[in-house]
Amino acid sequence: MSIMCRVDDKNIPLYRIMWVAATPHFCGEEDCVREGCYEVRLEHGETVWANPVEQGEVLQQLESWQGGMGMSDDEDW
Ligand SMILES: [Zn+2]
Repeated sequence: MSIMCRVDDKNIPLYRIMWVAATPHFCGEEDCVREGCYEVRLEHGETVWANPVEQGEVLQQLESWQGGMGMSDDEDW
């Protein structure tokens, strides 16, 4: 599977992702353009913003990616 995920029109390697927000951004500012988006924090303090669909996909990809890192029963080293 790919180790790249797509967020905000950027292809981001999964290993660069530090965390993904569990709840949508809300800061209360009237002109906020990120409201309803999910913060995705990358290395070096970079941030990208995922829409709800992308957030789901990123989490799913992260899970299967980490599941492939030596967690499975049928490994063949
Ligand atoms: Zn905001």
